[in-house]
Amino acid sequence: MCSQFGVSYWLASQPDTVVLQPTSLCPLACTYCYLPERHLKQDMAPAVAAAVAAGIEPGWSPVELVWHGGEPLAVGRARFVELLEPFEPLRQAGGIQHKVQTGATLITDAWCELFERFEIGVGVSIDGPRPVNERRVDRAGRPMFDRILAGIETLNRHDIPFIVLAVVGHDSTSQAASVLDFLRDVGTRWVGFNIEAKEGANVDGDTPPIDQARRFWRDTFTWCQHNREVTVREVDRLLGFLGLEPATRNADARHDLIPTIGWNGDVVLLSPELLGAREDRYRDFIAGNLLVDSLSTILSRAADLRYVQEFLIGLERCKATCEFFSYCQGAHAGDRYFEHGTFTATETEHCKTSVQAPVLALADLVNTEENR
Ligand code: SF4
Repeated sequence: MCSQFGVSYWLASQPDTVVLQPTSLCPLACTYCYLPERHLKQDMAPAVAAAVAAGIEPGWSPVELVWHGGEPLAVGRARFVELLEPFEPLRQAGGIQHKVQTGATLITDAWCELFERFEIGVGVSIDGPRPVNERRVDRAGRPMFDRILAGIETLNRHDIPFIVLAVVGHDSTSQAASVLDFLRDVGTRWVGFNIEAKEGANVDGDTPPIDQARRFWRDTFTWCQHNREVTVREVDRLLGFLGLEPATRNADARHDLIPTIGWNGDVVLLSPELLGAREDRYRDFIAGNLLVDSLSTILSRAADLRYVQEFLIGLERCKATCEFFSYCQGAHAGDRYFEHGTFTATETEHCKTSVQAPVLALADLVNTEENR
């Protein structure tokens, strides 16, 4: 199995993003969650965080460290501070920036003080107003909406800006404007939409069909025209692509390996969703363990991994066959695997709803405008 262009053609020489799992535990039980071990409290040891910090090379451009879960705040403040401390020399030198992606239900004044002290960028997971947020529930099945809003209010009281990641399911594809109105009104100025897909433990992921997604994106583009104070990730990305010089637009991107560090130091590459997934054929996607090997050593062996090799072949197939490739650049490895059982696959439900549908939606709007 080999890729025509080679590893260095497709893979970036350093990661821009490193994802860390401070704990596998999450008090929520969202029905679409992809994490298999979210009911277990397995916390990262400070030695793992120290090994990550030691692996950030001095010559790298600044790295975004995303603390993601489980629910990262479920690790507790005392342990979180122990995990942050090894990064302090790097943070103060501008070599890293912390981000945390949280369900917000555990945010308190004390957490806000910690976010301020370590300059942690905050991302909140909320899907919109109460009716479209019903699948974010606790283990007893009780809606978490009010507790999420309470966390957001605490952030607002501390003037801590936050971004939002929102899952879009069947029920919200017809409600883009009301979802965005709500998210703007609770105070965010940046939204990323994740259209529901089959991933990890969410084996029954109920992906909306492309026509529904196309409508969602049409309504989102229209909303953004009248609400310039809010950036929607997918709109920003597509308009940015269209504004590029043609030579840049047609160049192939280098893919970030996105090393994702589990609570026990295990490292998976390419997709955080692969962490905790089990598959003998791919040796559970584990590229190495930071308590055994350095991050550089693990990254240098990436091309030996069967799933990385397959992903490169998938990228080349996308480049050869897909009319959306110059914009898409090949989309997510994890979605290929969770849908097709192999990384050599090309089209997925995710790429139809989250890559192709926004492009088609923008074309719909341009054509409507031209025909007026
Ligand atoms: S839209 Fe899908 S098939 Fe096309 S390049 Fe992207 S991932 Fe590949």
